[in-house]
Amino acid sequence: MYNHIFFDLDRTIWDFDTNSTETLMEIISDFQLHTYTGFTDTENFIEVYKKINNELWSAYGNNTITKERLRNERFERVLHLFNINDAKLALAISDAYINRSPLKKALMPSAIDVLQYLSGKYTLHIITNGFNDVQFVKLKNSQVEHFFTHIITSEKAESKKPAPTIFDFALKVSGATVKNSIMIGDNMEADCIGARRFGMDQIFYNTDNIIHQEKFTHEVTSLLDLKGIL
Ligand SMILES: [Mg+2]
Repeated sequence: MYNHIFFDLDRTIWDFDTNSTETLMEIISDFQLHTYTGFTDTENFIEVYKKINNELWSAYGNNTITKERLRNERFERVLHLFNINDAKLALAISDAYINRSPLKKALMPSAIDVLQYLSGKYTLHIITNGFNDVQFVKLKNSQVEHFFTHIITSEKAESKKPAPTIFDFALKVSGATVKNSIMIGDNMEADCIGARRFGMDQIFYNTDNIIHQEKFTHEVTSLLDLKGIL
């Protein structure tokens, strides 16, 4: 029935949270953030960063802020909450984060196993809202790049999930059709509701086992479950 599988990247293949936490721990240590009086503890800092980063990412997703503002503002805001008001430091940390985090290699559980299995049966692609300059580095460094025929980023498509235009762009680039394709992702709105609205089948990778009222073609809590479906 399907020939093409479109995967989201962050939190679907690449373990964004583990990799982000690891990078932030290095940054806290290298920039000696614990020496500032306003700094409380590492765990709290990471928690605050994730909250602000998520907020700015949803603003970016809604097209209310630019990529540059997202990248420059997140650490400035986090540091400010710890009473560290130093724009230069914020920028240096921001650069360090952008350079280091895509080099991290943690993948979601069973990702390699499942990609090996699926690549024998289907043509695999990525559709990501992440940026060109980091997404390709992530794919290469975590050694999964070779599984994917086309990597569609929102920057290339000039459109972000859940907009139908990025799914349409992905089909054109890969020579797939809406009927012979399925989308797999952890983001209910961007990946699954987006694909569903476009008319493409979808699998919700419900990593946090959240309760919801949406109806998707399939839903899994582990990538391994894909072997029973595809
Ligand atoms: Mg994701």
